[in-house]
Amino acid sequence: MPEARRPAAERPWPERALDHVWYPYAQMRDMALPVPVAGVAGCRIQLADGRELVDGTASWWSACHGYRHPHIMAAVHDQLDVLPHVMLGGMTHQPVIRLAERLAEKTPGDLAHTMFTDSGSVAVEVALKMARQFWDNRGETGRDIFIAFEHGYHGDTAGCMGVSGTYRDLRPRFAGLAHEHMTVPLPPASGPSELERILAEGADGVAGVIIEPLIQGAGGMRVHSPGVLARVAELAREAGTLLIADEVATGFGRTGSLFACEQAGVAPDILCLSKALTGGTMAMAATVATRQVFAGFFGDDEASALMHGPTFTGNPLAAAAANASLDLFEREPRMDQAAAIEDQLDRELSPLTELPGVLDVRIKGAMGAVQVAGAGHRDRMRRRFVDHGVWIRPLGDVVYVTPPLVIEPEDLSRLTHAMGRVIAGAFG
Ligand code: PLP
Repeated sequence: MPEARRPAAERPWPERALDHVWYPYAQMRDMALPVPVAGVAGCRIQLADGRELVDGTASWWSACHGYRHPHIMAAVHDQLDVLPHVMLGGMTHQPVIRLAERLAEKTPGDLAHTMFTDSGSVAVEVALKMARQFWDNRGETGRDIFIAFEHGYHGDTAGCMGVSGTYRDLRPRFAGLAHEHMTVPLPPASGPSELERILAEGADGVAGVIIEPLIQGAGGMRVHSPGVLARVAELAREAGTLLIADEVATGFGRTGSLFACEQAGVAPDILCLSKALTGGTMAMAATVATRQVFAGFFGDDEASALMHGPTFTGNPLAAAAANASLDLFEREPRMDQAAAIEDQLDRELSPLTELPGVLDVRIKGAMGAVQVAGAGHRDRMRRRFVDHGVWIRPLGDVVYVTPPLVIEPEDLSRLTHAMGRVIAGAFG
């Protein structure tokens, strides 16, 4: 009997991978079979066929302490035994209260009140709603535009698409869903800019400015200086509008400080977090607002309350994982580890600029990216990395690593050497 006609039960699960699962960002017609994973431990991904890959992705920037860290595992197991979930509508529990207190302590400036959701996109969606309604509650109803930056990415839900430069060409397809906001180039650290001009012309129509601090991730791993971030914050402040920092990717040590905003001395009005919030253990996101933004929702009228509340908001299991992850940031030298990764990436990736096909090498904290000439080799490179025993997934024309912050130098070298060999093989 031809393979495809055998009943599902007779085919091993890796062969059924494409039968019913709809994979992310994939043309399902000709998608390569996804790599079947049996388990994870530390910085390794164990495949169903017994091979092991060194992880260069921390599963999309999330597994900052590596996989299955015993402290997080124990916290989640303990939580599972007593309170895996309960609704936060009208009820509460200790893990979520503790987590919100700790975020208020650790986040920059006056950020103090957290709405919990389940993904980075929804954290941004809540930030956009929060900013719009903040002005609306004050009677400034004309503030309905957000200013975002070219090459920025803030998630895949409708509101997020509207502020993501990466969705610019795709937005017409979602007209009516993804509202068109303003996208401008990042300003220089000093001197005139389009951002300054637009804010000077009509800041009273602007609900907020949204930025990925220091690294624009999905838009191509583009790095900007703390001076640029400080300038954006200064212009937003001067114009009297809100600054939204989307640290979904950069938060929790990735850029070398707990939050990227710290490096520019910037305290946003609203901060979005997810990915490494639970140490990559489970889905959770946070939108943290300043006391001032929070106070803007106080009033006699129910309609001035923030109308948002996903079923799993503040999920106790995820909150337990997040609290355990914060313990690890307190107890273990994650920032030193991020600095050591940055040094090693600098030493081992910078020489790749000599390779044919390499246009640029960009390093910031525990993120290293090599920009190559075109995305044509992407799929072949993805397969070649697996042959080299590493998990690296090029994004368009950018080959990058965002490893767990706990990666050992030898494993990091395996990643950087594989990058050199695979890029040389593709363009040599
Ligand atoms: N914001 C930024 C900066 C991101 O990098 C991402 C995801 O990569 C998101 C938002 C969306 O997060 P999620 O994929 O969890 O919805």
